[in-house]
Amino acid sequence: MDLAVGDSGVEPITKIGGSPWWPSDRPRPRCNRAGHAMSFYVQVRLDDVPDLGWPHGWLASVHFCNECMWAGLFDGTATAQSVELFDVRGDVKPDGFGATGGEALRPHRVTLSAVMEAPGLGDFRATGRRNPG
Ligand SMILES: [Zn+2]
Repeated sequence: MDLAVGDSGVEPITKIGGSPWWPSDRPRPRCNRAGHAMSFYVQVRLDDVPDLGWPHGWLASVHFCNECMWAGLFDGTATAQSVELFDVRGDVKPDGFGATGGEALRPHRVTLSAVMEAPGLGDFRATGRRNPG
């Protein structure tokens, strides 16, 4: 997985921050605690995670309520977080509202490639763990 600073736009693809793809027929998420508009963090095209075995064409979108987190009210329950799943294969259009609820993360484009990821020596040095060999 490679990350590059910048927003890839309102597309149903895996990305961090920026403007989410959000269907025009659904309201944007608000926290259950105080009704704050939630901030977009990440969306994952589930086709990019083949080991999930999820059907083709779905997108997971993750939002958190920054207002509650900054106020120390985030307790890990569903009151201040939202994970929505969308089937993006049809003709549903994005709402085009951009990032609502304030920007949470610096936008990054995500490029995935099929590689065998195995820890190398540098990974063990970086974590302070001993070389397993
Ligand atoms: Zn809130």
